[in-house]
Amino acid sequence: QILERQTLRVEDIVYSDSLAEEESASALQKEAAAGPMKDEIQIVHAREHNLKNISVNIPRNALTVISGVSGSGKSTLAFDILFSEGQRRYLESLNAYARQFVQPSSRPEVDAVFGIPPTVAIEQRTSRGGRKSTVGTLTEIHHFLRLLFVKLGHQHCPDCNIPIAPQPADSIVASILKDYKKQTVGLLAPLVIQRKGIYQDLAKWADARGHDYLRVDGEFQPTAKFPRLDRYKEHTIELPVGSVDVSAKEEGLLRDLVATALERGQGSLKLICMATSEERLFSTKRACPSCSKSLPEPEPRLFSYNTKLGWCPACTGTGLFAAALAEEESGEEDKYLEATNDPEADPELACVECDGARLGPIARHILVNGQGIHEVSKQSLDTLPGWLSTVRKKFNAREKAIADRLLNEIEARVDFLRSVGLGYLSLDRAAPTLSGGEA
Ligand SMILES: [Zn+2]
Ligand SMILES: [Zn+2]
Repeated sequence: QILERQTLRVEDIVYSDSLAEEESASALQKEAAAGPMKDEIQIVHAREHNLKNISVNIPRNALTVISGVSGSGKSTLAFDILFSEGQRRYLESLNAYARQFVQPSSRPEVDAVFGIPPTVAIEQRTSRGGRKSTVGTLTEIHHFLRLLFVKLGHQHCPDCNIPIAPQPADSIVASILKDYKKQTVGLLAPLVIQRKGIYQDLAKWADARGHDYLRVDGEFQPTAKFPRLDRYKEHTIELPVGSVDVSAKEEGLLRDLVATALERGQGSLKLICMATSEERLFSTKRACPSCSKSLPEPEPRLFSYNTKLGWCPACTGTGLFAAALAEEESGEEDKYLEATNDPEADPELACVECDGARLGPIARHILVNGQGIHEVSKQSLDTLPGWLSTVRKKFNAREKAIADRLLNEIEARVDFLRSVGLGYLSLDRAAPTLSGGEA
C-alpha cells in the first residue's frame, strides 16, 4: 500500500474560538448528521490543554505529519486526543474482566471524534543514559574503541611524553645491534632520576667498587673528587658501565654490558651513541625510562570516565571545569573568572586538566596511530572511516589479527549512524545535549 503524505499545520487549522455557543452546537449537529466521512478521522472542537477549539480531518491509511511551533499543541492532538480516545474506545469494547487490568484514560476535552480505530502510540525514547553518557557509550563504539586502545595502544609517560614499552634484555640487545650497527655506544645505568640531594655517599660507593666516574646531569664527574652538588636541585646520576663497538662479533660483550647496566639501573639503561651524542633509554619494566614513573598495564577501566581509575581526577570524568579546583588554586580561579567575564564564553567550561577529554593522564597518553582515544572521539563520525582505514593499514599481521573484529564492530556502527544522517556527531558528544530525534 502506498502511503500518501499529507501535512497538517496546526496554525493552518481553522480556529473556531469566535463561534458563539449556539453556533458551535449547531455546527456539531451538522457535522454529526453528515456522519463520519469514509477513510477519515474527524476531530471536532478539541480543547484539551493548549488546543483552541480546533477541528481537523485526518486521512486514514496515509502518513500524516503534524507540524507547528513549539507549544502549539502537536503532541496534545496526537497523544492526548487521537491516541488516547482510540485506546479508550477500544478498552471500553472489552469485557469487564479484561478491563480490570488496564486503567482507561479519561475522556479528552473534545466535542466529538469520528471514524477512529484502535490506536497504538510509539513515543520518542526519553531515556538517554546517565549524565556522563556520550554518543560513543550509547552506541557501544567507545566500548570497542577502548579495547583497541588497551590491546594495541602505545603507552607514553604522561609527564615526559616518551614511549613506554617493557622489553626483555634480549630484545634490547637486538635493537641495539640493529639500530647502532658499526657505531660505538656507551651504556650507563641510571642510579638517580631527578631527585634532590648531594650524593656524596653514592660517589664513595662507586669509587670503592672501582668506578672512576659518574655522569651527573649529563657531565662526567670523577668519583674520587666528587663535586658538591646543589642540595636543593634535582639531579640525575648515571653509572657508566662500559662501551662497545656494535657488531655481531662483539655481541657477547654487548650482552654482558646490557645485563650489568639493567641490573645496576634496576631495569633501565641509557645508551649514548658516541658519534651522534644521541641518548636513548631502554627499560625492562613498564616504567618511564626518563622519570622512572611506573605505569599500570592498560586495561579497559583506564578508559572509562565512570571509574576512579579512568576519570580525570580534576573533573571526575565530566570534562567540565571543576569549581572546587578553582577555590584551591588561585591561578585557576583567575583563569575561570577571566573566562566567565567574557560574554561569548560557554557557561560550561572545559576542565583545565583534561580539556574536556574526561579521562586521566595515563589513558590520554596511550596512543593508536599517534592519537589518544579522546582525540579520536572528537572527530565527527563522517571522518572516522578514514581514521579506521589508516589504522588498519598500519597494523602488522599480529596486530591486524587482534584488531580486525574490533574494527569491524566499530565500522558497522559508524556506517549505520552515518546512513541515518548522524555523521556530523562526534563520539564524545554528551548524550544530554542530543535532541530527541538524535537520541
Ligand atoms: Zn616520565
Ligand atoms: Zn578533567
